[in-house]
Parts: sequence; structure tokens; C-alpha cells
Amino acid sequence: MSKNLTSRAEDYSKWYNELVVKADLAENSAVRGCMVIKPYGYAIWEKMQAELDRMFKDTGHVNAYFPLFVPKSLFEAEEKNAEGFAKECAVVTHYRLQNDPDNEGKLRVDPEARLEEELVVRPTSEAIIWNTYKGWIQSYRDLPILVNQWANVVRWEMRTRLFLRTAEFLWQEGHTAHATKEEAWEETKLINNVYATFAENFMAIPVIQGLKTESERFAGAEETMCIEALMQDGKALQAGTSHFLGQNFAKAFDVKFTNKEGKQDFVWATSWGVSTRLMGALIMTHSDDKGLVLPPNLAPYQVVIVPIYRNEEQFEKIAELSNEIIDNLKERGISVKFDKRDTLRPGAKFAQHELQGVPLRIAIGPKDLEDETVELARRDNLSKQTVILDRLSVVVEDLLEEIQENLFNKALEFRNSHITEVDDFESFKKVLENKTGFISAHWDGSAETEQKIKDLTKATIRCIPIDSAEEEGSCVYSGKPSNKRVLFAKAY
Ligand code: AMP
Repeated sequence: MSKNLTSRAEDYSKWYNELVVKADLAENSAVRGCMVIKPYGYAIWEKMQAELDRMFKDTGHVNAYFPLFVPKSLFEAEEKNAEGFAKECAVVTHYRLQNDPDNEGKLRVDPEARLEEELVVRPTSEAIIWNTYKGWIQSYRDLPILVNQWANVVRWEMRTRLFLRTAEFLWQEGHTAHATKEEAWEETKLINNVYATFAENFMAIPVIQGLKTESERFAGAEETMCIEALMQDGKALQAGTSHFLGQNFAKAFDVKFTNKEGKQDFVWATSWGVSTRLMGALIMTHSDDKGLVLPPNLAPYQVVIVPIYRNEEQFEKIAELSNEIIDNLKERGISVKFDKRDTLRPGAKFAQHELQGVPLRIAIGPKDLEDETVELARRDNLSKQTVILDRLSVVVEDLLEEIQENLFNKALEFRNSHITEVDDFESFKKVLENKTGFISAHWDGSAETEQKIKDLTKATIRCIPIDSAEEEGSCVYSGKPSNKRVLFAKAY
């Protein structure tokens, strides 16, 4: 079994990378910046997908699928979007390889097989989708369109990290079309709310909802809403975005409709996405020096049973009891794994399940058989208790709920104690030096000030919180008047 992890205090970044690999979540691949998501990591992602998918459908959305490739002429139609993504695009230029006559046994691109039009591997799908919507929308009766797609996208990121920032990543992208501006705005807010609810109730990650400033906005959007989370090292992470696209894409792709008054108008749009970056958020919010800590909602199995035995006869008895326990727990909708591998000692199994964040561990030995008890261990606070068999199902069910809640409350307390109100730039810098986290400060609203602060401190405006109260003040950098605080932080 793997040795101890580097501690968070020693080197947070190293701790993260080691944990991802040792907990068997993902690993680097032969392709620079692209990862292999391993079965245990993928099972967690599938849980996220299933819940989000349910939430999207509950709010009226349906799934569809669009091509991986975007013809360059479509890609460049919405100029701001194209400009924003151009620097990180992978482009397909050829469609065939051939034997290389100068290099035996090797292949080369067939120079004869050049594509007439180059294809961009989608970094996001607005272009291909709005080009398609043109054929779907004629009148107000065709609206709204509320489509989501589960897909992979490619952004040629230069500095990548497993889950947090990869060149290829998995995500969902919603693309909706509406008859009115108001409706599109409502959709933008609705989805940001779905994301916030999902993060908090399902992933136990507290988030702040807000608006991005112009410089942090999605290329081609009129407004970007986001959910921002705080990681244990005091850095912020953008965990999801919901964009109000105005009529930009409708104009670029000439998507008009006849409204109720019989007049032609351009269609209003939104787009929104969360990605496998959420795996990074999950890890960096809850995990500890012993490894992953999973909220029960996201655990591939919520309970693991480890048998402790000296001989075959003992094993058989424990296995029989375990099967009964599994049946009882399954009836309550609890997922359980019986770890009966005979290639590992119980201690090594304990260590592995701890590293992989299984919320509850049940250990059953010969003494337990006699006493009709089991030993129950919690991953979140590492406490142990002896439970009599009769009460086991109830105790497990209650504990899973308690763990889910406990993780959220712990993260919330951490987040709230890492938001510092600051009114002058010296204090601003000091907070970033001493104790990182969010800084709540006044800003004069200009991109220049935002950039200056970024150059001097590396902190960016994470968002203008939607519940930020009106308050007279002066910009923490320029001293100019401001009527609202915004949240700054160093970010992933
Ligand atoms: P965007 O389309 O830029 O608004 O991004 C949509 C979602 O994908 C956001 O939640 C981002 O945090 C996430 N995201 C953006 N770039 C990457 C990346 N390179 N790797 C993983 N997730 C990403």
C-alpha cells in the first residue's frame, strides 16, 4: 500500500497531486495536459453527473449531442468568442496518414489529404449549436429551447493540473434560446442557482454566487454569473459559470424569429457549464492529510465492510453476517462494498479506504460475532464506536446524514472565517501575505484598477456577490467612490 501523503501544511500543491494519484482518481496520460480518469474517480464524476442531470431535467431541460468539430468559418462568426478562445484551439488540418517514404515504418500526414476547411476541436459549442438553432427557430412557438449536452472539450492550456485545469475536460454545457431578454436573464440566474444548490447540498461545498467583472467574463457573453468556492489553502476556485449571451450569437448566426406581434427579432441566449474541475473542488474542500474525504452523496460506496478472521470458518461466518448487513443497508438506499480480498491484511485495507475517503467503515472480527456487535469508523472525524447489530442500519443511516452535514458546516465555517473586510491597500496586501482567502473590498469599477491590483498582488476579482449590499465607500486602490464591495482572492 502507498506510503503517507505529503501533508497539506508542508506542500499543499504536492499533497493535492499525490492524493489524486494515490486515491486512484486520475493520472497523467501520454498526451500532455490530458488525464486518464480512473474508475474510482469516474464513479464520483458519474454521481455528480446523475444529480446534475436530474436537476436540469427537473427545471425543464433536455439533452442532445452536437459534433466535436467546428468548421473554422462558423467558429469565427462570433468575433469576441473566437478571439477569446483562438489562442487555445486545437485545429484539425488533415484527414489521413500515409507511410513515410523517407522514414521506414513511420507514418506521416498525407499532404494530399488536406481538409478544404480546417476544423476547430470545440473549446465550447456556442458556434456549432447556434448555427444549428438557425434551422430550428422560426417563430416564438419554437421557443424556448432548453438543451444541455454532456461532452468533452479541448482548450490548449499551457499550465495544467489534474482535474483543475486540463487540456481536454469533461463537462456539461447548456445552450438555451429565448424570445425575450427577461426570460434569458431568468434562465441565467436559475442555472446559477441550480449550480449553487448542487454544490452546497450535494457536494457539501459552500459557494458564493456573483457576477464576473468584464475582464473575467466569458468571451462573447454580456454577463457571466458564477459560483466561487474557497479551497483549504485560501485560494478561490471558480466552480461553475452561467452566461447571459444577449443576442450576440443570434446576430452572428442570423437566428431570427417572428414574435407574438408578428415582428422579426433576434433570439436571446444563455450558456452554462460545470466541468471535471468540480472533482478538484471536492478534493480541496474536504480532504485531509490521510487522503480523500467524501461526502456520502458522492461516495462510490458509502460503507465498506472489512472482515477480520484467522481461518476459513471464521470468514464464512463473517461473510454470512456481512451479506445480511448489506441487504439491510441496501433496503435503505445505502451503498456498501464487502472487501473480502484475501490478498491484503485488514490494516492495509483500512489504510486504503481511508485514503479513498469511504465515509463509513465497518470492521467485523470473531469477537464481534460472539458479542453481536461491529466496529464502526467515521472517515470525516476518524472516530470509532462499537454498535450492536440490531441498531446498525439506523445508526449508519443517521451517521451518513450527519457526515454530509458536518462536512458542509466545517467548510462553511472555514470559508466564513476567511472573508476579510479591508478598506486600505496596505491591509489588503497584508491579508494576502498572512492569511489568504477572500477579501471583501470596495473597487472603483474600472478595468485599470482591477489590472493594477492583479499585477501587484496576483489577486483578482472573483465576483461581485449578488447579495452584496449597497454601501458608500472608496476604492481600496484608487480611493475613488464605490457603492459596493466585491470579492478579491488569489485563484486557481
Ligand atoms: P467557461 O466555458 O469558460 O465558462 O467554463 C465552464 C466551466 O468549465 C467553468 O466551471 C470552468 O471552471 C470550467 N473550466 C474552464 N476551463 C477548464 C479547464 N481547462 N479544465 C477544467 N475545467 C475548466
